[in-house]
Amino acid sequence: MMNEKLTLNGFNSSYEDARMVAFGVPLDGTTSFRPGTRFAPAHIRSEFIGLETYSPYLDMDLKEYKIHDQGDLYLPIGNIEKSLERIYQKSKEIVSAGKTPFMIGGEHLATYPAFKAVYEKHPDVFLLHFDAHTDLRDEFYESPLSHATVIKRCWDLVGDGRIFQFGIRSGDKKEFEWSRGHTVMERYGVSSLSAIINKLKGKKIYVTIDLDVLDPAYFSGTGTPEPGGISFKELLQSIHEIKEVEIVGMDIVELSPHYDSSGASTAVACKVLREMTLVAMKNYRR
Ligand code: MN
Ligand code: MN
Repeated sequence: MMNEKLTLNGFNSSYEDARMVAFGVPLDGTTSFRPGTRFAPAHIRSEFIGLETYSPYLDMDLKEYKIHDQGDLYLPIGNIEKSLERIYQKSKEIVSAGKTPFMIGGEHLATYPAFKAVYEKHPDVFLLHFDAHTDLRDEFYESPLSHATVIKRCWDLVGDGRIFQFGIRSGDKKEFEWSRGHTVMERYGVSSLSAIINKLKGKKIYVTIDLDVLDPAYFSGTGTPEPGGISFKELLQSIHEIKEVEIVGMDIVELSPHYDSSGASTAVACKVLREMTLVAMKNYRR
């Protein structure tokens, strides 16, 4: 059957049959430096046509899994409160139906309402956070809700020892100090991931990937690029390691496609989306 709207290539299940539901969130409200994340979901969706649905890394094909794409949420640009409420309601609807949400951002603040909905269903959930930035501020520009505070807001929900951060190389001194004893943070890289995954086997996990965890050499299409990041291969390997745990929610955020006129950053986001989807859906063939 022909699609009546542009949806992600290979996301062929109906909503009813799907075990995972992708949805775009063009949120771009609190981006502190250079805006543009509102364009990411539409760019990912159109560039995804050029990506093979088959992953040679995993020997899995998107077409064979129970996945559905709902398109982009309509968000009232400029109204953060209403936007977050819509993201929360959409995530809650998916989670309540027993499905796994995969949110395509948008700026990182979108993770908070999505994670909150997942947390309410699975209060024992752990958070894996890939990012260049700590995102642990209490407030930013006098607001507690910002892409620079989002992981602190998630901590408000789950508390100590439940958040694992990787690739972190930028933030306020106070954030780094506060993280000790509250989150488990690996600076600069991802070398502690496999040991942590081993410990988390059998647990429920939400994965949030702020794509600026990548070095700007691989991913320049973002609002706040931070040199000294991980390579694409390291991120890919990390995603494949996550195969060992149960993923109950995930997102990719902070692509700002217009800052990379080559389109390579959008291609990176698409490939991350494909590999994440397959890893999370490994047990749910059509
Ligand atoms: Mn970041
Ligand atoms: Mn972030």
